[in-house]
Amino acid sequence: MLCCEREVWLRAFLTCAIGACSMLGDLGLKYGKSAPERAVFDNATHATVGGLTWTLIVVLSRKPIMRSLNAIFSCFLLASFIDLDHFIAAHSWHIHDATHLDKRPFLHCTTVPIVLWILFILLSSIFHSPEFQQASWIMLAAFLSHHIRDGTRRGPIN
Ligand SMILES: [Zn+2]
Repeated sequence: MLCCEREVWLRAFLTCAIGACSMLGDLGLKYGKSAPERAVFDNATHATVGGLTWTLIVVLSRKPIMRSLNAIFSCFLLASFIDLDHFIAAHSWHIHDATHLDKRPFLHCTTVPIVLWILFILLSSIFHSPEFQQASWIMLAAFLSHHIRDGTRRGPIN
């Protein structure tokens, strides 16, 4: 009983932490002084939300957190790296070019992670690989946490 109570509190804490982190990230964007400062803060927020999202999934799956640190860190990194497509689409490493695109860059299209997820799931069943299966879910969690946060702030298209 004590174990279940602790688990419920941990789930509630992680859920609140995802929300609080997102709200803090939005405040940082609002009050950030320069474009690079805002971009770094925004990206750190995406990474943290991604890591917290996978941590919550680990807790919900009743797996030990300490054995899942690689997966949590993978989700953290992937949620951050998604924004590299701004630089690829801009053909520039300048933050001004990357943040002033005409449309959302290609990794911000939600069809991409869905297609990748289906591909990874197919590969995991073909090769009987639980690693591929876990990678597919980590990838989906990283993309969806990133897209939901971006969509909440900017709307689904812009
Ligand atoms: Zn983004």
